[in-house]
Amino acid sequence: MSISQLARSISDSPTLRLNEEARLLREMGRPVIHLGIGEPKNKAPITAILSSAAKLNSGEVKYTPTDGTPSLKKAIIRYTEENYNKVVAPENIIVTSGAKQSLYNVMYGIINPQDEVIILAPYWVSYPEIVKMVYGVPVIVASKDGSFYPRMEDILEAVSSYTKAIIVNSPNNPSGAVFPQEFIGEIVEFCERKGIYLIMDDIYHKLVFDGVVAVPAYQFTQNDIESTKLIIVNGVSKLYGMTGFRIGWLIAGRKLVKVMTNVQAQITSCPAEVLQAAAEGALNGMQSYVESLRLTIENNRNVVMQELKTFNGIRVVKPEGTFYCLPDFRAYTNNSVEMADFLLKKALVVTVPGKEFGMEGYLRLSYAGSVKDITEGIARMKWALDPASPKEIYMGDRKMTRDWL
Ligand code: PMP
Repeated sequence: MSISQLARSISDSPTLRLNEEARLLREMGRPVIHLGIGEPKNKAPITAILSSAAKLNSGEVKYTPTDGTPSLKKAIIRYTEENYNKVVAPENIIVTSGAKQSLYNVMYGIINPQDEVIILAPYWVSYPEIVKMVYGVPVIVASKDGSFYPRMEDILEAVSSYTKAIIVNSPNNPSGAVFPQEFIGEIVEFCERKGIYLIMDDIYHKLVFDGVVAVPAYQFTQNDIESTKLIIVNGVSKLYGMTGFRIGWLIAGRKLVKVMTNVQAQITSCPAEVLQAAAEGALNGMQSYVESLRLTIENNRNVVMQELKTFNGIRVVKPEGTFYCLPDFRAYTNNSVEMADFLLKKALVVTVPGKEFGMEGYLRLSYAGSVKDITEGIARMKWALDPASPKEIYMGDRKMTRDWL
């Protein structure tokens, strides 16, 4: 079998391996708790279900324009006006099969072989792989002060004549950090001045806590939508709990949108019509749905912080958004893959190794699930690692005794 060099260069995912192991353990009847999930548990908004069901019932489910149905674009225009205070035209929008395809389209649209894309650590696992898929070079920049907050001085050191784009994800997966306004202002100004694309992955932009706001990057540019280097990526996956519907979108100048539309036309033709109808239903429906999800997640975040406080050796930065946190486990080990394996085998808890996000020694925990899963999951982790915790614990109806500390 002959496999291309490019395909071979794309990493496999330890997450998928852990998921598979968790599935096998569950099949054997073991009470596994999943703190690895990247999606809210709640059902899709009723308006999304009704509008996609109506489309399906009509029996007329066809190709749509490659860049999305006019009615969904209308809903996105309104969303952009309401949430970003920015008026855009239908030609500035491309609807995609998930935000992931928006990111892939834009890389395909702007990267020549060897062009560099700056990715800020900790980062979402797919960014480097998507860059590599178009023969670009991911350049990872971690904050030299060791924090989850990027600093312009570190970014400037990494910029070269090959730098084509910078990706910013705030609220951030996996750290939960929301980057300060000053930073967003500085990086927008820098990219506009240097002609470097600034890709804002805003997929979690309303999942913020304690009154913190993820300020729209548009606020910091005087350039109009046709001349700005700002590209905004968004979607319904996270805010509306609609990960399985696979609808995202991207906003940019119309020339770039046209190029991306040509790319998408040759890859998927268009996003599925029924699913576009669902996204339209979500965007046009009651937006209190998002607020109630936000409140639930904020409460979950508080529970996680409370539980981790009494975990000896663990250091955690309070997340200001998303449904993730990224505690530092280096007091126990520097090998996050081994740590995640150990926790799955001994404590039956799924976590995601920080190594995947460019943060070795950390583990990503998701608090998108139930409060019960969060409290039980962390109690089991303490039991497995912290000698100060009780030696015995119930997992399901089985009493387990720790015999390794
Ligand atoms: N960006 C980030 C930061 C994400 O965490 C995710 C999903 N995990 C995506 C993009 C992709 O979202 P979608 O489901 O819309 O493809």
